[in-house]
Amino acid sequence: MQVHKYDVVIVGAGGAGMRAAIESGQRAHTAVLTKLYPTRSHTGAAQGGMCAALANVEEDNWEWHTFDTVKGGDYLVDQDAAEVMAKEAIDAVLDLEKMGLPFNRTPEGKIDQRRFGGHTRDHGKAAVRRACYAADRTGHMILQTLYQNCVKHNVEFYNEYYVLDMLMVEEDAYREDGTAYKQKRVAGVVSYDLATGELHIFQAKSVVFATGGAGKVFKTTSNAHTLTGDGMGIAFRKGIPLEDMEFVQFHPTGLAGLGILLSEAARGEGAILRNSEGERFMERYAPTIKDLAPRDIVARSMANEVREGRGCGPNKDYVLLDLTHLEPAHIDAKLPDITEFARTYLGVEPYTEPVPVFPTAHYVMGGIPTNIDAEVLQDNDTVIPGLYAAGEVACVSVHGSNRLGTNSLLDINVFGKRAGLSAAKYAATADFVALPEDPEKFTSTQIDAMLNSTGTERVAVLRKELQDIMDANVQVFRDKDSLDRALVVIEELRERYKNVSVQDKGKRFNLDLLEAIELGFLLDMAEVMTAAAMHRKESRGGHYREDFPNRDDENFMKHSMSYRDATATTEGISGIRMETKPVIFTRYQPMERKY
Ligand SMILES: Cc1cc2nc3c(=O)[nH]c(=O)nc-3n(C[C@H](O)[C@H](O)[C@H](O)COP(=O)(O)OP(=O)(O)OC[C@H]3O[C@@H](n4cnc5c(N)ncnc54)[C@H](O)[C@@H]3O)c2cc1C
Repeated sequence: MQVHKYDVVIVGAGGAGMRAAIESGQRAHTAVLTKLYPTRSHTGAAQGGMCAALANVEEDNWEWHTFDTVKGGDYLVDQDAAEVMAKEAIDAVLDLEKMGLPFNRTPEGKIDQRRFGGHTRDHGKAAVRRACYAADRTGHMILQTLYQNCVKHNVEFYNEYYVLDMLMVEEDAYREDGTAYKQKRVAGVVSYDLATGELHIFQAKSVVFATGGAGKVFKTTSNAHTLTGDGMGIAFRKGIPLEDMEFVQFHPTGLAGLGILLSEAARGEGAILRNSEGERFMERYAPTIKDLAPRDIVARSMANEVREGRGCGPNKDYVLLDLTHLEPAHIDAKLPDITEFARTYLGVEPYTEPVPVFPTAHYVMGGIPTNIDAEVLQDNDTVIPGLYAAGEVACVSVHGSNRLGTNSLLDINVFGKRAGLSAAKYAATADFVALPEDPEKFTSTQIDAMLNSTGTERVAVLRKELQDIMDANVQVFRDKDSLDRALVVIEELRERYKNVSVQDKGKRFNLDLLEAIELGFLLDMAEVMTAAAMHRKESRGGHYREDFPNRDDENFMKHSMSYRDATATTEGISGIRMETKPVIFTRYQPMERKY
């Protein structure tokens, strides 16, 4: 067993992890552990842009951006966090520019900006150009730029090291009012080296989780194969709550039947959604900003068109994204990659034919709860010293119940930076927490059990059944019956998972084994998402309950907090305790959400 010691260990080398590493690496002895090579992280797949109220092409300011973020999130956003993000957005973009990121430019040489859903001028008057971009490869450019700068600052990377467990201890502590509680402290993480099959312990004063999302819970998704919710799963198993897990974003324009993403930038550049009658149907649902309404509204409108029989194709099960009125030269300059996707995967020529699209699972708004300094919370009031989270794995919460396009590349830069600074600052004065006895025991037992199992269940079979049931029942539309149906199957799959075995029994590059472990995280995440969706008996943002179609501020203007708790039962689901946390308001009171 190898034990490594670092001041700061960052788990994940996507945008959030590497932005944190750039800060931490200049101040503290820092290691980044990542299951993928850094430049293969999902951030590199991001297409459309990163927003900041630079006002380079038209009037704009951070307060309008804050308002759009709060309204876009259907008022479940913590407004202090949204203010921080919108204010710091400007420097976040300029930091990247100074690091060498090749943004698209205006003729005068300024960073160019384009329209994106839900971003408006003066509190909803019209769409505004706020997204900074590098063609439709913005995330690719961000990831490359951050990686180069990590190398420059001598950040140490451990590539293809899967973190499978976090080492935590609990200490007796007292609150100001004298009541006793158990304070969680982090001691490090346990990781599995894919190349050798060896376990490595990383002891650290500060640990930052930046492991990204969990879109693979669903069948139709824009997410990479590796987005299996590991970081959320590890935290949840350690008794850390997960916030707002019922809110999953379904992006309107996935390639029909495949889920591969066509960026909202297409609509930002003028593309239009049409139904089988050729109608620009978004005019009915969002008369002011039409196709550039926030994603939850557009996705629901599309699903509704299909339900009401105005879908296209032989099964009438998708709608069309029409770019045919745009100049081919404009498409080539601004949307080269995504139009190529349409040609490659659907055989459709976007210059002349509309592209079949349907909503695809895209982004998890919920995650590990943090405050604006990226410190992880063990309950509503108590921070876990030395533990941080940023990016899609975290819930700070700037996205509330629906994230606006281009706000995630922003989130990972703003809160990634904050996480790196906080982690280094804490490590400068803190001591190491002693490692628990047999730190690797939980992980080695789990691995041995899977390798030695003679069980008959196969990972790919269980994963497919899980993804099918989630697509069918926990997607854009939900109700009690559909959630019940999903839960029955999830519970059954959890039982069958105990009987899973892997065919590859080897030590080197055993992806079979790791996919089996990842499936465990997916099952946990599916259960939490469904339980939280059961609990929220209202419709808000990305969570639409057909049996409770209205937003209910009186009862549900609060975050949900799901805890793993063997003694508890929520909505008939044993092992999950559901609590709530107040939403932080600064200047905006909830209003009806019209676009
Ligand atoms: C196709 C697509 C297009 C998008 N376009 C945009 C856009 O234009 N604008 C926008 O704002 N947002 C966009 N998004 C969303 C945005 O890209 C992501 O939310 C964001 O990049 C997530 O960054 P992250 O750093 O949190 O995680 P990721 O970039 O997903 O990185 C996660 C990291 O964690 C590591 N990891 C995970 N599990 C483990 C483990 N167990 N052990 C060790 N390491 C682990 C991985 O190796 C990886 O390095 C898009 C998303 C997708 C899928």
